[in-house]
Amino acid sequence: MGNNAVAENQKLTSEAPQQPRVSRRPQDYQQISLYKDVNPLDWEDWHWQLKNRIRSKDDLAQVIKLTPEEEAGIKKASGRLSMAITPYWATLIDPEDPNCPFRRQAVPVVSEFIVGPHEMVDPCAEDRDSPALHLVHRYPDRVLLLATEACAMYCRHCTRRRLVGEHVENNSPGRFDAAIEYIKSNRKIRDVLISGGDPFILEDEEIESLLEKLRSISHIEFLRIGTRVPVTLPHRVTEKLANTLKKYAPIWVSIHFNHPKEITKRCKIACDMLADNGIPLGSQSVLLKGVNDRPYIMKRLVHELLQIRVRPYYIYQCDPVRGTQHFRTPVAVGINIIEKLRGHTSGYAVPTYVIDGPGGGGKIPVGPNYVLSQAKGKYVLRNYKGKIYTYLE
Ligand SMILES: *Cc1c(COP(=O)(O)O)cnc(C)c1O
Ligand code: SF4
Repeated sequence: MGNNAVAENQKLTSEAPQQPRVSRRPQDYQQISLYKDVNPLDWEDWHWQLKNRIRSKDDLAQVIKLTPEEEAGIKKASGRLSMAITPYWATLIDPEDPNCPFRRQAVPVVSEFIVGPHEMVDPCAEDRDSPALHLVHRYPDRVLLLATEACAMYCRHCTRRRLVGEHVENNSPGRFDAAIEYIKSNRKIRDVLISGGDPFILEDEEIESLLEKLRSISHIEFLRIGTRVPVTLPHRVTEKLANTLKKYAPIWVSIHFNHPKEITKRCKIACDMLADNGIPLGSQSVLLKGVNDRPYIMKRLVHELLQIRVRPYYIYQCDPVRGTQHFRTPVAVGINIIEKLRGHTSGYAVPTYVIDGPGGGGKIPVGPNYVLSQAKGKYVLRNYKGKIYTYLE
């Protein structure tokens, strides 16, 4: 850590209500007994990482000390959204701390099997707004294409847990034909967001074939990919992948980041590879209780994102999806985070806090109110410090 980083850490620590624990986990995988004999070339190979994901309680117990809630959760979480943790992510988990952000996001707990009030299977009504297989069309000029249902790691807060997980999936080359036809025949669509699951879990050839088909549609101006791979399996971001994306530019990539500790040296290498190939990067975070619901943690996250050339884009209120009550915060927590960012730090570091309107309303921004009153030709405003200003039209 450089002196600046140390000073910044101390500043953040002093703002924090509690002293954050320093992770005891060594970053070097060879210091973990389960991985001590792994060849460095294998460790770097994303297929090796995928094949060797931790999927059982016994394997995980070799890496971290499990709590009874986790042991019971892992046992119940079979089938959809079962546990899968990349060896890379496993090395980041604090073996002793049950509140470690890496652990909370990856290890099932029994609370996931409690259905909280107002929780739904498909809160954003994506299935209802699907005009073709794998496609969601909600906004007039853009669509969401769900390219796969698999991910490198399964997040315990996943909003698409009704779909996402390891199961037999149709991976025939023609599976997107209906979606492509729909996009082709709808000239209002100018933007396709490819998400899933995680599109970067597909092989290079599959990604290229999909991009090629979408790019050949003349009214498509803008492509973007939503992924968590740079965070959960950065080894997947190879020069070959970055070059493929570059070939079909402009493609923007939105990366799901939730905690500043996720920005490791390895993650930075992956993001650099994309940015160096001219791919604009944005972040999307889910507000998660006990993970990133304190302003000082979000502030550190957005600052570190700018340093790796990722522009903070959205903070999502955790959708009312079944089994996520233990992650959900009051809306006021999110609004307060934006209040503590806007004006207090670089505008580029401030994401938009949104609630995806239950029942299919789309993303609705919620944030601090800066307009105190509005009458004919006169706006009474407050600034980030609470000082009042009148603007006359
Ligand atoms: C989030 C989302 C989009 C993209 O929304 P932007 O605000 O443009 O990023 C498009 N379609 C669906 C269904 C979505 O959920
Ligand atoms: S990477 Fe995204 S789609 Fe996959 S489990 Fe996590 S939140 Fe769900």
